[in-house]
Amino acid sequence: MRDHRGMSPSATKPQKSSTLQPPVSKELRQRWAGLVFPGAKTQEHFSPLDGSLIASLPQSDASDVDVAFEKARGAQQAWGGLSFGQRKAVMMRFHDLVLEHQTTLLDTVQWETGKSRASAFDEVADIALTTRYYANSAEQHLRPEKRQGALPFVTQTRVHFQAKGVVGMITPWNYPLTLPLSDAVPALMAGNGIVLKPDAQTPFSALSALDLLYQAGLPEGLFQVVIGDGPELGTAIINNANFVMFTGSTDTGKIVAEQAARRLIGFSAELGGKNPMIVLDDAPLERALEGAITASFSNAGQLCMSIERLYVHEGIYDRFVPRLIDEVSKLRLGTAFDFSYEVGALISAEQLEKVQAHVSDALERGATLLVGGKHRPDVAPFAFEPTLLTGVTEDMLLCRGETFGPVVAIYKVSSDEEAIALANDTSYGLNASVWGSKTRAESVAVQIQAGSVNVNEGFTASWASTDAPMGGFKESGVGRRHGREGIQKYTDVQTVATQSGMNVAAPKGMGAEAFTQAMTKGLRLMKYLPFRK
Ligand code: NAD
Repeated sequence: MRDHRGMSPSATKPQKSSTLQPPVSKELRQRWAGLVFPGAKTQEHFSPLDGSLIASLPQSDASDVDVAFEKARGAQQAWGGLSFGQRKAVMMRFHDLVLEHQTTLLDTVQWETGKSRASAFDEVADIALTTRYYANSAEQHLRPEKRQGALPFVTQTRVHFQAKGVVGMITPWNYPLTLPLSDAVPALMAGNGIVLKPDAQTPFSALSALDLLYQAGLPEGLFQVVIGDGPELGTAIINNANFVMFTGSTDTGKIVAEQAARRLIGFSAELGGKNPMIVLDDAPLERALEGAITASFSNAGQLCMSIERLYVHEGIYDRFVPRLIDEVSKLRLGTAFDFSYEVGALISAEQLEKVQAHVSDALERGATLLVGGKHRPDVAPFAFEPTLLTGVTEDMLLCRGETFGPVVAIYKVSSDEEAIALANDTSYGLNASVWGSKTRAESVAVQIQAGSVNVNEGFTASWASTDAPMGGFKESGVGRRHGREGIQKYTDVQTVATQSGMNVAAPKGMGAEAFTQAMTKGLRLMKYLPFRK
């Protein structure tokens, strides 16, 4: 039987590695299965590390999704009525449980993705960071807000943030622990229920975390998980949801947007990128080298904020690029349930094919390979070497398409203006990184068309600034996660205006013309009033 990534046990040969551990426990498998909506069919899921069976899980169809929403809606009534303090208590317990049970979470992430342990830990850390942030800040972001009323003193106007109801969440495979959970936490803190459809290749990390969320006190039924076909379940989710949180490719994001528009429901979409890094000639060399490597090869490049285009100023090119090649060639590629490798395997045969296609197309059309470039089945079925290329031109797939793998194209630039123009010459606008002296790099940063720009950092500084919005310009997304924006989107914004003493109309006995004249005088005077809420 083949699973969602087209794998069967015979599709791969188990690696002779002493570092791989025995399959997950029977108890954990049962707990996972108990958290998935019970569909009529089941599906076996295999690990990309060695083709071994991880577990079998129930599969849902569209009618199951309808029932999952009913159940979540039922549980949401009581949850939406709790105070922020009561919801915060659940989230803070969840925060502690995530850190306490991190070994199971890290193992699970590695089993189903093949990523390195360090990249898996990024997910655990992100959940802790985001959960603490929203547990502490939700009340401040969502408490009723005083706004300027129609008439001074006699109109009291407040804005209320009401929970949407049940949020539909659709998530990809690359960060299977943090993307579902870190976007769910603000939705839950705002008083919503959730129906989640994780990518069918990677359901287990979200289930392990959900198990902890229920242990922390989340009411039964509030957070439903359905697993199955993307288009079928995705459509059913959009047809039922009060709001859709989608993370995935730009192509699928456009389908989601069309479907949400037909129902006139809100949605937020975190989509693809082809992210640039600019190294100016006054960049701190050692830190820039380290930053370029982390930003390009974390999670084997399967990261939406990952750097795929590197623009290096000619004044530093000859010092920077040879050192980068040297450092990249030393990166350890491997699979182990410890921290001995910096770069892990790719997720699937499909992902490997895409990465190989980009590299071989570029080489056939005249690009130069500086380091890497090879599939490494001796390491893991879908392992691919960290790769640097130069001479990438417009006619190559690699030039504009998101590779989503450990492959970076390097370009020499001769001015800040050229670097900015090239960095912006893309349909995407998710993340960017600029290295150089502070003032110069910051001045370049604000000219980059991207939702987040990291100065003297690759992506972590902006991503981990949880109080600040994160999202895409252009075809990289709609809406934002993190910060005030990342929780208010899960609410309907309601204005309640209370009028005291007099109506906003002509007083009794005053004709329309006299009222108009009085209003005109009043409007002229109001110009001198300061803005005050
Ligand atoms: P994808 O679009 O193929 O799939 C994402 C999710 O959408 C999966 O759960 C899938 O089953 C579901 N889906 C598929 N067809 C659907 C449909 N018709 N309607 C609704 N849902 C459907 O993306 P992927 O290949 O799994 O993920 C990689 C992409 O995600 C990359 O482009 C990456 O840049 C992007 N990504 C973006 C962010 C971000 O924060 N901007 C984060 C992670 C990944």
